Amino acid sequence: MATKKIAAKSVAASVTPVHALPSYLDSEHLGPWGIYLKQIDRVTPYLGSLARWVETLKRPKRALIVDVPIEMDNGTIAHFEGYRVQHNVSRGPGKGGVRFHQDVTLSEVMALAAWMSVKNAAVNVPYGGAKGGVRVDPRLLSRSELERLTRRYTSEIGIIIGPNKDIPAPDVNTNEQVMAWMMDTYSMNVGATASGVVTGKPVDIGGSLGRREATGRGVFTIATEAAAQIGLSVEGARVAVQGFGNVGGTAGKLFSEAGALVVAVQDHTGAVSNDKGLDVPKLLEHVAKTGGVAGFKGSESISTAEFWGCKCDILIPAALEGQLTKDNAGQVKAKMVIEGANGPTTPEADDILQDKGVLVVPDVIANAGGVTVSYFEWVQDFSSFFWSEDEINQRLIKIMKDAFAAVWQTAQQHKVSLRTATFIVACTRILHARELRGLYP
Ligand code: NAD
Repeated sequence: MATKKIAAKSVAASVTPVHALPSYLDSEHLGPWGIYLKQIDRVTPYLGSLARWVETLKRPKRALIVDVPIEMDNGTIAHFEGYRVQHNVSRGPGKGGVRFHQDVTLSEVMALAAWMSVKNAAVNVPYGGAKGGVRVDPRLLSRSELERLTRRYTSEIGIIIGPNKDIPAPDVNTNEQVMAWMMDTYSMNVGATASGVVTGKPVDIGGSLGRREATGRGVFTIATEAAAQIGLSVEGARVAVQGFGNVGGTAGKLFSEAGALVVAVQDHTGAVSNDKGLDVPKLLEHVAKTGGVAGFKGSESISTAEFWGCKCDILIPAALEGQLTKDNAGQVKAKMVIEGANGPTTPEADDILQDKGVLVVPDVIANAGGVTVSYFEWVQDFSSFFWSEDEINQRLIKIMKDAFAAVWQTAQQHKVSLRTATFIVACTRILHARELRGLYP
């Protein structure tokens, strides 16, 4: 008997416990994946009996690394590394963008895929989460090199993507044209036009009206809902926006149309302000003409530090990740931060803002308008029946409002931040689907 016990113990000690993560997936691993794992740890106590399934969120379902060799214009052969990660597909096919950037890594793509699982569940669209990327600086490629890169990458990940399997979309440095090449390559490989394989396509080949403005419109809708909860009227509110591209520019336009004062805007060219409110349509024209906000007439130039500390009610980071940090979060005077960008607030800054009583609406719900209209695009492609822009905007606004209401109610119920509340809502939906489907075999 005693011998049996010792034997069992030594076997157990020599076998990796089933819940242990491989070292490259554990929470000590720095970077976005480590942050994501900490967010999951924070939400686990609120998952009730579903916590039994939480390991499923701590590792990607599938991660593909591909070699992307292309012939350069000068006749040489260059190799790039590409990735497609499907984090979770319990609620439907994988969905998430493709990023072309020289700093893309597998662990970054894993985190971005995981956040897509959370985002898609938070707005209750029937998708899992996925993300892709190629480690390349696309500015160094000619247009034909970029096309060859896109087509070879698409072909390589073609074994795991598809309209019912995993649907890519644009992300950093990819656009409608890149989506058109991806759709065409996949279609050539399967021998039939498969417009639903990607979203964010040009309207003429199955793209959706309203997709381009969808993320900014979602940011504006969520901000309006959050403002109402804290008794702030958008009309007359003072708004500051970092990044005046697709997301920040659209949100800024909608705020100014609603009677808010956009008092400060910062982008990669500098920061401008006007205490009485910038003329947003003119600022958008200036950005389209000159490439940035710097030098805009009718504004004064301010420093980056002044931008973060400016007198405003609503602050919208809509540029890059890691912008609100422990160094500038203390200066923020806004009552609310609405995260238009993905991951703009570091965990330290998050804590500082919470201590100051600033309401932070997290990216996983605030910028989910883009994927929501991507979902509409996919539905329209399947039915080959296209909706008017009005219908799209109305459906988008309803989904965003319902999603925010569920998150707000959860935050009140558990007395947690909106970030944790969004994770509670989303992870509960994902793990409930996991439990209903059960394990195969
Ligand atoms: P964009 O390229 O249209 O605009 C980016 C903006 O950021 C530009 O105004 C640029 O000047 C500014 N910027 C770049 N570097 C900067 C710096 N160092 N300091 C300050 N500003 C800087 O991009 P976008 O589509 O508006 O995306 C912005 C953010 O929103 C990204 O984090 C993106 O992942 C996220 N996002 C976008 C969508 C979408 O549908 N476009 C959806 C979800 C999330």
